Amino acid sequence: NLPLLQIDGLKTYYPIKKGIFSRTAGYVKAVDDVSLRIYEGETLGLVGESGCGKSTIGRSIVRLEEPLEGRILFQNKDIAHQTQNELRPVRTQLQMIFQDPYSSLNPRKRIGDILAEPFLAHRLAPPSEVPRKVDLLLERVGLPRAYKLRYPHEFSGGQRQRIGIARALAFEPKLIVCDEPVSALDVSIQAQILNLLADLQKELNLTYLFIAHGIGAVRYVSQRIAVMYLGKIVEIGYKDELFERPKHPYTRILLHAYPAPDPTLRDAKRIRIQGDVPSPANPPSGCRFHTRCPFAAEKCRQEEPPLTGQVHAVACHFPLNP
Ligand code: SF4
Ligand code: MG
Repeated sequence: NLPLLQIDGLKTYYPIKKGIFSRTAGYVKAVDDVSLRIYEGETLGLVGESGCGKSTIGRSIVRLEEPLEGRILFQNKDIAHQTQNELRPVRTQLQMIFQDPYSSLNPRKRIGDILAEPFLAHRLAPPSEVPRKVDLLLERVGLPRAYKLRYPHEFSGGQRQRIGIARALAFEPKLIVCDEPVSALDVSIQAQILNLLADLQKELNLTYLFIAHGIGAVRYVSQRIAVMYLGKIVEIGYKDELFERPKHPYTRILLHAYPAPDPTLRDAKRIRIQGDVPSPANPPSGCRFHTRCPFAAEKCRQEEPPLTGQVHAVACHFPLNP
């Protein structure tokens, strides 16, 4: 299995401008030297607290952001620094779905017209075939064909997410970045959307990067999971291995923030997180987690731990479950 997408040394920073309240200019180091592989047909989960840079990785992959440094190899071609014009041939193959699709659905257009747009704007099908394509998309995501005449406000949150997915599918993508696609939905609806994504993956041989702040949905859909903290990947591995033998203290804390089936086990293994998330504009020295890690030692304050390991990799000087 070859990687469909390979990220090497990715840095995506947001400039901070000098203003009345900030005397110095600088950068928010949203993604700070990240390397990752996403294999064809897999779901890679990406978890971490809000503001840790997960969405920025997703947005860099679909090139809604331009990285400062690094490579993004998609099917062996570096797209990290391509212009919008150069990106055109791959643009359709990399799609993103968002937490709130409502904000991106034009309220004055009928769903049928919204779904017809990609076909017409990108000439993906001759105009005469578009109505049939729209029907097929609605069917694919489990919505009645007749819904094409309705407007976005007539749908529930779950239905709107189905429409968001249908619109992404119009492009016949290879990779879909799913950025917290169920975080805003009721738990009962979440499972329906996750099942839909899983079914579509099988039918269409899709590859997903599935981003979430909690481990719940990620555990359900992913084969591998990457854990992110302050712009860096701190641990990555196969789901079961990561759940059974987490190596990074932060991963273990994230896992235990997720309700365990056995409460006695949960309490026995609990370790507590201290303090607040530091600013990604000015990350701590050494290991970025040292200000909150219950195991931090002098070495952690001085030396940055590299991400080491083949299949199960961790960035920690004193990994758990060695
Ligand atoms: Fe904690 Fe040190 Fe490991 Fe960082 S390197 S996670 S501070 S033990
Ligand atoms: Mg986000």
